Amino acid sequence: MTKALRDPQPEIKSFSLSESQGQLVILRNISFSSICEHHLLPFIGKIDIIYEVGDEKKIIGLSKLIRLVNYYSSKPQIQERLVNEIADAIMRSDASPKGVVVAARGIHICVYARGVKDREAKFFTYAVRGTLESREIKEEVLKSVIHGKKKTGINL
Ligand SMILES: [Zn+2]
Repeated sequence: MTKALRDPQPEIKSFSLSESQGQLVILRNISFSSICEHHLLPFIGKIDIIYEVGDEKKIIGLSKLIRLVNYYSSKPQIQERLVNEIADAIMRSDASPKGVVVAARGIHICVYARGVKDREAKFFTYAVRGTLESREIKEEVLKSVIHGKKKTGINL
C-alpha cells in the first residue's frame, strides 16, 4: 500500500499508431485504493482517464495507465493530488499527448466511519491539462457528474 514511497514511478511505454491523429483515448473505471494522508484511513474509488493523442501519434499501453493509477495511490495521499500527479505523469510521458483529463470518484472511510459519518458522500476530483482544458470539456465533465448515472462500483 505504500510502494510509491520506495519505488520509482513505472515507465510509461507508448506505441506509434500512424492513424491516431486527433484521436481521443478513454479508459474508464480503473479501481484505486489509497490511504488518506490526514487520517491514515483508506479511500477507494474509480478513475477515468482521457487523453488526446499528440503530434507524434503515440498511444500509451492501457496496462501502463492502470499501473500509473496503482503507483500514485500507493502512498499516503489526498484525492486532489492523486488526479494531478497522474495527469502530470501522462503529460510528461514520451507519448506527449496534447491534453489529459483524469477524473476520480471516491469514498473516504474518514468521512464514512468517523467524524460526520456520512454514508453517501462521494468525492469527485478532476485534473485537466493541455487541449482538454477547454470550457466545453469542463461542462461535459460537470454534466456527467450532475446528471450521469456513474456509480463508484463500490458497495460499502
Ligand atoms: Zn481523511
